[in-house]
Amino acid sequence: MTSMNDLPPAVTGVRRSAPHAVVIGSGFGGLAAAVRLGARGYRVTVLERLDAPGGRAYVHRQDGFTFDAGPTIVTAPFLFEELWQLCGRRMADDVDLRPLSPFYRIRFDDGESFDCSGDPEAMRREVARLAPDDVAGYERFMRASEATFRVGFEQLGHVPFDSWIDMARVLPAMVKLQSYRSLYSLVSSHVRDERLRFVLSFHPLFVGGNPFTVTSIYGLIAHLERQWGVHFAMGGTGSLVSGLVKLIEGQGNRVRCDAEVVEITAHNGRATGVRLRNGELLAADVVVSNADAAYTYKHLLPSTRRKRWTDRRLDDARYSMSLFVWYFGTRGCYDAVPHHTILLGPRYRALLHDIFERQVLADDFSLYLHRPTATDPSLAPPGCDAFYVLSPVPHLDSGTDWTVEAERYRQAIEDRLSETLLPGLAGRIVTSRVTTPIDFRDRLLSLKGAAFGLEPVLTQSAWFRPHNRSEELERLYLVGAGTHPGAGLPGVLSSARVLDRLVPDPSHV
Ligand SMILES: Cc1cc2nc3c(=O)[nH]c(=O)nc-3n(C[C@H](O)[C@H](O)[C@H](O)COP(=O)(O)OP(=O)(O)OC[C@H]3O[C@@H](n4cnc5c(N)ncnc54)[C@H](O)[C@@H]3O)c2cc1C
Repeated sequence: MTSMNDLPPAVTGVRRSAPHAVVIGSGFGGLAAAVRLGARGYRVTVLERLDAPGGRAYVHRQDGFTFDAGPTIVTAPFLFEELWQLCGRRMADDVDLRPLSPFYRIRFDDGESFDCSGDPEAMRREVARLAPDDVAGYERFMRASEATFRVGFEQLGHVPFDSWIDMARVLPAMVKLQSYRSLYSLVSSHVRDERLRFVLSFHPLFVGGNPFTVTSIYGLIAHLERQWGVHFAMGGTGSLVSGLVKLIEGQGNRVRCDAEVVEITAHNGRATGVRLRNGELLAADVVVSNADAAYTYKHLLPSTRRKRWTDRRLDDARYSMSLFVWYFGTRGCYDAVPHHTILLGPRYRALLHDIFERQVLADDFSLYLHRPTATDPSLAPPGCDAFYVLSPVPHLDSGTDWTVEAERYRQAIEDRLSETLLPGLAGRIVTSRVTTPIDFRDRLLSLKGAAFGLEPVLTQSAWFRPHNRSEELERLYLVGAGTHPGAGLPGVLSSARVLDRLVPDPSHV
């Protein structure tokens, strides 16, 4: 089925006969899927349109600074470890993953702050300091978070959800966990202090969800973090990307960059391979798309009549918010600033309403500030700090002209940082670059420039999300943020894990 031209050079004689799997995209979901398929005996080619792998975890290097473009908070490290184990190796030999404490500092608009950590005693003290009447409610919430984790992560995260039966089976458990409630509403039933309500409910923002509308299942993240910690990969998240690429190459497989797929070819309702922008055709026994799920259906299946994911359905779907990200380096270090800081503005519910529902760019913002040099000074030249600051903004339906707005918006963020955490910032910036929703649309090919794919609301989760086994074509599979279970590193690594239960054994292909 596969032409000789498609073979990666490192493949041995025996493996030349192995069935060929093509993976479109080298985000963490795609790389993890490639490792898993390789471990099962597939010959794998990963195709990436950019000049380097990683997707949202691409690495920008400029003026001696190393900037991870996206994910930096590594939770559930065992999901990475498992990939190394599948190759008979230890992750620690390739990646130095360090636990952080505190996980992050939250600075409220009133100047008060809260350090989140995995130490239950320290957390109780922080809660008692901020809201003494809420200690018991906090403990209750953490117990609820653990119960949700047992079902939501351990049971549901790895179920394919490609039939109604999967869904029917879990419904009773989901009802028991009150998953029909929003996370904010669940948190509010346990604690009264608005600041603490933020501390316990903001996590879904890291995966594109609005705490006021997202299912309370996302409350499991609090337990996930406490149980396994928050980690940082020394050298940056890029070292996890290059570690996975090394695993793939060690399996005799290949990651090809500058290779954009423009069509998934099909015959008799079955995926047969891909066509690249340069006209090249690659035959495949199995195709896995790690491209944005909505983009995959809208643009990569031009000649397939889609039964479920029609253009209309995709246009009517809800998409996650986008992000404005400013990467910058400073002369001198801000030693008092921890690795992760959340810098809140005056509004919570109303700001998220502007972003998710009204889709307008507000004048105020809440920011996440990343200072990786707090943990790994090698990411900046000596005596300098590397940062990125991220602001959730509406996706491109807002109509914001980012070619005009970007610099004004960046300046407003700079002013806010200068007034609060980084005094004297203006005179100390030595390098700078920004990413706007336009980059999510044009560089990462995400519909509407959404930073996390389809919004994780209940009506777009589990069976209601694009399935990991495509509903449109046989032998086409989806991994990554836009499919089940959803965005974030644990989510996309789990999506690849689900494939082990769906993709046939290579001996049956
Ligand atoms: C700024 C930012 C910060 C984040 N921080 C965190 C964090 O701290 N912790 C966390 O857990 N999560 C975080 N996330 C979320 C997390 O990064 C993403 O959910 C996850 O990395 C997405 O992985 P993915 O597998 O969906 O692939 P993506 O990273 O979306 O990669 C998809 C790849 O497919 C390629 N591609 C697309 N179309 C084609 C095509 N036609 N042909 C070839 N290649 C194609 C793209 O170029 C891209 O490389 C963050 C996200 C962002 C944007």
